[in-house]
Amino acid sequence: MSGTTILKPDLGFVNEVIRSGGESLKKCYQCATCSVVCNVTPEDKPFPRKEMLQAQWGLKDQLMKNPDIWLCHQCSDCTAYCPRGAKPGEVLGAIRKMSIKEFSAPGFMAKMVGQPKFLLVLFAIPVLLLLASGAGQTPAGPVAFGKPHGFLFSMYFIDPLFTAAALFALVSLGLGVRKYWKAMAADLPADQAAKINLGAAVKETVSEILAHRRFQKCETTKGRSTAHLLVFYSFIGLFITTILAFVKVILEPNTGYLAFLGHPVQIGESAITGLTVIFKIIGNASALALIAGIFLVMTNRFKNSKKAGVGSYYDWLFITIVAGLGITGLLAELLRISNIPAAYPTYVIHLCFVFFLFAYAPFSKMAHMFYRATAMVFARATGRG
Ligand code: SF4
Ligand code: SF4
Repeated sequence: MSGTTILKPDLGFVNEVIRSGGESLKKCYQCATCSVVCNVTPEDKPFPRKEMLQAQWGLKDQLMKNPDIWLCHQCSDCTAYCPRGAKPGEVLGAIRKMSIKEFSAPGFMAKMVGQPKFLLVLFAIPVLLLLASGAGQTPAGPVAFGKPHGFLFSMYFIDPLFTAAALFALVSLGLGVRKYWKAMAADLPADQAAKINLGAAVKETVSEILAHRRFQKCETTKGRSTAHLLVFYSFIGLFITTILAFVKVILEPNTGYLAFLGHPVQIGESAITGLTVIFKIIGNASALALIAGIFLVMTNRFKNSKKAGVGSYYDWLFITIVAGLGITGLLAELLRISNIPAAYPTYVIHLCFVFFLFAYAPFSKMAHMFYRATAMVFARATGRG
């Protein structure tokens, strides 16, 4: 007995894909060249042809819970070979952006991050918070950041502010990813759901991400793997730097948080100096890698723009924030070492970039790494590795 499938096209969704960077969507005539040339897709039910069809038909629900939109690594081989100029790589990029908007919480933040008209408002938030902490001043004396009192601003204000921003981002990301996983798992047959080996899938996915194996399969945008690896590992380095710096401000004998709370730790000056040297080396090396990586990302985009497209506002917002973060961080450090007061405004601008990157991470392209990793784990766990 044959069943009947009722499709519910969402024309608003089609228009949104077109507005979000998928302008070429309607050009697709379903020849499937894209699925043939894609080196990343599984052979069974390959992408991106079927996603182009789903997008043309406005099948939003099917696309939003489809892990394949995240298995695509936007290497643009399909876009380079599409005989109709339909740019499936960019269409999938637009759908991924909409997927983040669909699952992230609160949803209005994703809308704001995705639209240029809200850019000033998003930047105004960290600027006002930092100005409120006294960051508009240029203190007298040798240039120094992050001391407890009497310098650029109080660390007793800055640290809780950035910790709150990071916690907000973590909770929001966790909720979004959980919602996405549930949407993907909703249609799984019970016997297949029971067979899921999450541990093995996570292990294999982490190993694949650390080596960036899928990026290495890209042909049109070959340099993407190196650029991505540099940015990825520099983020890990900067994360380690932040943790070590935080340990330092907790433990410092006279000025640390524990001393502030009346529980000073008996720790030698040499241990604190050693810790400072270590995180400064890791931090500066990571900043250099970040600048090199993001510079490569930009040059690759321009170099391949004819074949792969130059990218959307959403892509460039993330690239600009990361570049700004690396450049102002390194510049502030050099100015501080040289005892030049311009270090202060540079450091404040740097902190605005840091806030933007982390507080808005669940809604920006930064969220890609979490949604893509989730889709990769799900695909592996369900036999679509
Ligand atoms: S996107 Fe291009 S290559 Fe893919 S099916 Fe459509 S027309 Fe063919
Ligand atoms: S952009 Fe690359 S990974 Fe994505 S569908 Fe096209 S060829 Fe495949």
